Amino acid sequence: MSLDSLPTELLCNILCRLDPIGLISRRHFVERLLALEADPRHGGPPLSFRSRDNHLDPGTSESGWDAMRWACTQCMRLRPHTAFGNHALLRLRYRKPRRES
Ligand SMILES: [Zn+2]
Repeated sequence: MSLDSLPTELLCNILCRLDPIGLISRRHFVERLLALEADPRHGGPPLSFRSRDNHLDPGTSESGWDAMRWACTQCMRLRPHTAFGNHALLRLRYRKPRRES
């Protein structure tokens, strides 16, 4: 038996008693965090890395890095680059997605 099979009134009664945090699954929370990371208002300016010649824009000594945030799936927060290894952040699977992607 799944929750979907319960009458709507009973389902509403149950959902109203749940802690709101419990209503968001971890997967959905991570997806939301990644969307915030890609949003410049929360994740800071975009970072581009060209692996062909290791070109980084902005460079690590330029401003912009302090305003950037990455999603940490351990503590479920947006964290600065100092919370991660910079080499890890440039790895393809951890790179910030381009806004339009
Ligand atoms: Zn963390």
